[in-house]
Formats: sequence, structure tokens, C-alpha cells
Amino acid sequence: MNQTIYLDNAATTRTNPQVVEAMLPYFTENYGNPSSVYEFSAPSKEIIASARETIAESLGARPAEIYFTAGGTESDNWAIKAVAEAYGDKGKHIITSKIEHHAVLHTCEYLEKRGFEITYVDVDENGIIKLDELRKAVRPDTILISVMFANNEIGTIEPVKEIGRIAREHGILFHTDAVQAYGHIPIHVDEYNIDMLSSSAHKLNGPKGIGFLYIRTGIKMRSFVHGGAQERKRRGGTENVPGIAGYKKAVEMAMASMEEREKKERELRDYLIDRVMAEVPYVRLNGHRTTRLANNANFAFQFIEGESLLIMLDSSGICGSSGSACTSGSLDPSHVLLAIGLPHEIAHGSLRLTVSSENTMEEIDFVVERIKEIVKRLRDMSPLYEDFVKSAKR
Ligand code: PLP
Repeated sequence: MNQTIYLDNAATTRTNPQVVEAMLPYFTENYGNPSSVYEFSAPSKEIIASARETIAESLGARPAEIYFTAGGTESDNWAIKAVAEAYGDKGKHIITSKIEHHAVLHTCEYLEKRGFEITYVDVDENGIIKLDELRKAVRPDTILISVMFANNEIGTIEPVKEIGRIAREHGILFHTDAVQAYGHIPIHVDEYNIDMLSSSAHKLNGPKGIGFLYIRTGIKMRSFVHGGAQERKRRGGTENVPGIAGYKKAVEMAMASMEEREKKERELRDYLIDRVMAEVPYVRLNGHRTTRLANNANFAFQFIEGESLLIMLDSSGICGSSGSACTSGSLDPSHVLLAIGLPHEIAHGSLRLTVSSENTMEEIDFVVERIKEIVKRLRDMSPLYEDFVKSAKR
């Protein structure tokens, strides 16, 4: 195979050509600033209103509760910092989990330096938050619970309904980072008692640099970006009109194809998992076997470095991701893999492959064969593996 096999859909997805088509007129024809009064700007205003409606409907929310942002990171920052600011008089305690995305974790660390106390609740060996611990963490001064809908590394889906119920029982606000889940699994904000929800278009075949934050009516939220009166004075700055037009199209397509996509992804993903688990020795699957996103497979291969595996897969045109925090410039293994109890040396050998419905069984076959060859080659060069084989023979 000479082409790229893209198995990193948790990192980003291909912008659907129909999404690009929906965006184009807002660059070249209807480029008016939505804040301008003249008629020429009407299409820009209309597409923003219409996208807000489409997104609200997909979540069982109201259009006025949807605020456009520049993506998941901004939405997470906004939700957590703004609650801290608006409700800081009531209390300075926030609960989150140990496996959140850095957009949440680093925001919490930022608040810790400003007098807030954060409880990072443990997860079990499958990455599911420990609800008993969460319940025990609740205090009279707790103002926010922020727990992700589904994890970006291991795909585990969190018990959001129960978390929402706990938050509601105690009168605490509940924010969920749904960046990996929205557009992939059905979400209803009232059913789950969600008060705030973050999403990002590029995870559902939409464009990069556009996201939204759902904020339930009645929640006190200050402006996040100070400037003009856009987004009802809560987020200044000229709207990303083409991005919003693309987001609308991506959401429409994601909602219409959800069931079919899920089925196809699950088939590909299960085939990948079954083959790897059966044909590669000393490997484990990270994340819950069934309560996980349909597109996610995350393996830990003993005796090898995930980074080396990734580089060798790349030379065969295969795009995946490892759990090492290489983006942060450190060689520490992923905080998520450590939180599920993997020892450092095993966490270092992780590989995340996230399929899309555009992948094929032939591609998966090719990838499995390459994984088998590369893992064997890397292990043959590994002194750790040599010692292990020798001691096993004794
Ligand atoms: N939250 C989660 C769970 C993610 O997976 C990501 C992206 O990988 C983000 C937040 C950040 O989103 P964005 O890239 O839109 O800033």
C-alpha cells in the first residue's frame, strides 16, 4: 500500500468536502461582517443563527445557550475559569478527574495557584471515574464538577448521567468536555443534567478553530473575551462565519449518519482489537472493552517504546498516536495510562489507533501485519525482552 492510512481520528478528522463546500460562500460571496447593519451582511447573520439552532436541537438545548468559541480548549478554559470567577464567593472547591484533557487539567492547575482547591478523582483500571470517591469529594464549598464525556486517549465513556445526578442533588454546576463524544454518541443536556458542555468541530469532520460552549440559561457567566458585543457580550471578536457555516453542516451530517457510522467504526475497531490481541503476544487493551467510543483502540505493548513503533508505522504511511506526552516536551508517559494503573514501562509502549468509517478492512489487515512485524523487530533489539525470554526459559 502506497497511500496514507489515517488512524488518528481522535487527534483530528478529515474535513468533509460537503462541509468545505458549505463554508466557501462565506469567504468569497457572503463575506459581510455579521455586526454590520447593511443588507449585504444578512447571510452572515443568518448562518450564525441557523447554526446555533442546529446545534441546540442536536443537544436538546435552546439556541441562546450555544456560544461559539475557537475550539475545545477555549470552551474548557471558559467554562472552568468563568465559573470560578462568578461563583468564587460561594466556594473555592472544584472536582474533576485524573484523566481529563490538559485543557481542563492545566486550567485547574492555573486556578490552584489562585486560591482554588481541586480534587482530582481517581478512575478504575478501565478509566471509569470512581463515583463513590466523587460523592465523598463533594463539600459545601464545591462549586463545579468537570468530568469529560469520553476520554481522548483510551476512549472510555464516563457515567455522565450519574455524575449529572450527583451534581444536581448537591446544587453544584456540572461541566463536561464532550470534545470526543459530541457528534459520535447521542447527548441530551437535560437528560444528563449537564450545565455546560464543550465541543470542537474538527473532531466531527468539521473545520479546525471553531467550537462551542453550551451554557445553561440562568448560569452566571462573565465575559471570557472582552471586546465587541458578539455572542451576547460574552465572547467578543468578529465571528468565524465560514467556520460556523462548516460546523453547522458537520453537525447535520454527523447527526444524520451517527448510527451507521458507529456501526461501521465498531466493526473495523473490533476487528483490529481482536486481531492484535490474538496475534501479538504481551499486549493489553487500554480502556473499557465495551463502554468506549466506537472508533478507539488503545494498546500497550510490553518491552517496546510506543514512539519507536509510531515512527516505524509512519514510514509505512500509517498515522497513529502514542500515549507519551511528547507534545509537552517531556518523555513522561500519559497521565491517563498512569491513572488506570499501568506501570511506567508498560505505559511507554502504548499506541492509540482511532478509525473512521472511511477506513477499510484491507487497511486494518495491512496495519495489523505491520504492527506484528515492527513489534517483533523492536523486541528483538530490546535487552529487556531478551532478559524476559531468558528468565522465562529458566
Ligand atoms: N478536550 C478533549 C477531550 C480533546 O480530545 C481535545 C482535542 O484533542 C480538546 C479538548 C481540545 O480541543 P481543540 O483542539 O479544539 O482545542
